[in-house]
Amino acid sequence: MADQNTSIPSMSLSWVTLAVIAVIGGFSLWSMYSGFQALNSEDSEFAMAYLLIGAAGFAAIGYMLFSTRSSVPRKPTVPKVNVVTTLECPDCNLKRVRDFKRGDYINKDDESCTRCEGKMVITGIHKRAEPKKG
Ligand SMILES: [Zn+2]
Repeated sequence: MADQNTSIPSMSLSWVTLAVIAVIGGFSLWSMYSGFQALNSEDSEFAMAYLLIGAAGFAAIGYMLFSTRSSVPRKPTVPKVNVVTTLECPDCNLKRVRDFKRGDYINKDDESCTRCEGKMVITGIHKRAEPKKG
């Protein structure tokens, strides 16, 4: 692979991790299978060794999955405002919708009207409607 922009290692990292996990998983399955096969035969000491190898492989997979998950930087969860406040001017019936702010409640006198001198009153607080396409 060419030495390109390495600022997006998450893609290749997960790809490599998946490949390694697949190899280890196959090897562990084979070890477990061989162990159970050996259990039926007389060499049960080999069986225990195989089973231990298989278990260790699965443990390694679990560790890898855990470590990759914890190493991936989580996206900063920006709380998206999905609640809006509807304001209405009692004097000129101008309606406005803006993002909900802390402290908003219905019938509260809010900002002044942009059309007249009156005070706009909060008439509703509800979830933002789905953005319509077109
Ligand atoms: Zn007004």
